[in-house]
Amino acid sequence: MDTIRKILYHFCMNIPLSKSELEAAAARYGTPFYLYDEGAIRENMRRFAGAFSMFPAFREYFAVKACPNPYILKILAAEGCGADCSSLPELMLAEKSGITGERVMFTSNETPSAEFRFAAKLGAVINLDDITHIDFLERALGKLPELLCFRYNPGPLKKGNAIIGKPEEAKYGLTREQLFEAYPKALSRGVRRFGLHTMVASNELDPDYFVETATILFELGAELHRRFGIRLEFVNLGGGLGIPYRPGERAVDYDYIAKKIKAAYDDIIAPAGLAPLGVFWECGRPITGPYGWLVARAIHRKNIYRDYIGLDATMADLMRPGMYGAYHEVTVAGKEDAPGTHVYDVVGSLCENCDKFAVQRSLPEIDVGETTGDLVVIHDAGAHGRAMGFNYNAKLRAGELLRRTDGSITRIRRRETIDDYFATLDFSGLESFPV
Ligand SMILES: *Cc1c(COP(=O)(O)O)cnc(C)c1O
Repeated sequence: MDTIRKILYHFCMNIPLSKSELEAAAARYGTPFYLYDEGAIRENMRRFAGAFSMFPAFREYFAVKACPNPYILKILAAEGCGADCSSLPELMLAEKSGITGERVMFTSNETPSAEFRFAAKLGAVINLDDITHIDFLERALGKLPELLCFRYNPGPLKKGNAIIGKPEEAKYGLTREQLFEAYPKALSRGVRRFGLHTMVASNELDPDYFVETATILFELGAELHRRFGIRLEFVNLGGGLGIPYRPGERAVDYDYIAKKIKAAYDDIIAPAGLAPLGVFWECGRPITGPYGWLVARAIHRKNIYRDYIGLDATMADLMRPGMYGAYHEVTVAGKEDAPGTHVYDVVGSLCENCDKFAVQRSLPEIDVGETTGDLVVIHDAGAHGRAMGFNYNAKLRAGELLRRTDGSITRIRRRETIDDYFATLDFSGLESFPV
């Protein structure tokens, strides 16, 4: 059983490039680099959209923050995705990738008026995070848009999880009472089309969690209709669908979730006379997460109280392990099937002890060297990976490569340079700067 699981695991999880192909990419582009698999992203997106095609109006708004690369966005747009944005540059990225109008969802919080204006100019669906933002938006735009969505925070009704915390402690959304004030208020100010949104989980693998979330939104929609005659055009279930980072975890079954949500829809929405109602997602993680890898060279080994492998990538490239203690599968190119005979901490060069990609992990023996060392592959890095990176310790972030469906490799973002790091500094004033 264990052997079958391991084989399946390797089969499902393996990076699409062989060791020699990875070495060729490393020789051409240098290490570390991110690699994404276009074919796998498309195939997964088709399965996801296929599962939800039972809804008369379904749309996935890909959460741009998860993988903010216009090449990836363009591929996803070709698969029918919209874009979920929460800042001005994210809106601009969506626009540059050809995603505009109501294919853009603007789910922001603590939003400056200039960003609302840009979103409105794009024709994006604006999703308000607070009841006071009705007035704020009206001032920003001159008048409210025709279509408006509100983000619901169910508070103690939902349990939340470790990454996102408890809903009643989360800064997002309106309370239930506020929703019942906000919709009639918006209606009285000229809004004619409405949506309802919530997002209360992150990296959640329990499919029933999302069925419960959908049920809560459907019931709210029915109540809004009963009390105010407001007819929701869509509910947006947010993101938060998890992926199996750890061996032994199971991927969420899209068909199961879709079927159960459809049953709730048939129970609540159809009898309330609210069909057809759009069912939207704004997932990031399950869309690109499993189909992106961070590839780094093992350059140092040290043996002190523990045995360490030092990579040329750092937490600046992938901060999830350091930030959340998150688990990412690690494999060694060409040694995928070798037994885990050594226990290592696999680390980066940041002056922070949390800069560890893996802690006390059983791996095959790893050869080190600046040019001859093993290539170490960190899995499930395609969402909230490079995007979360930073420049602490003046570390420069990796670039991004895309394996196209025809097997060719395209660079879709170059690595950062020292000039990028210095770009915000003006050294010319330094000499005449009195101290
Ligand atoms: C982060 C976020 C998402 C995407 O979350 P994933 O876990 O990547 O699916 C969607 N909507 C909102 C509002 C978010 O903050």
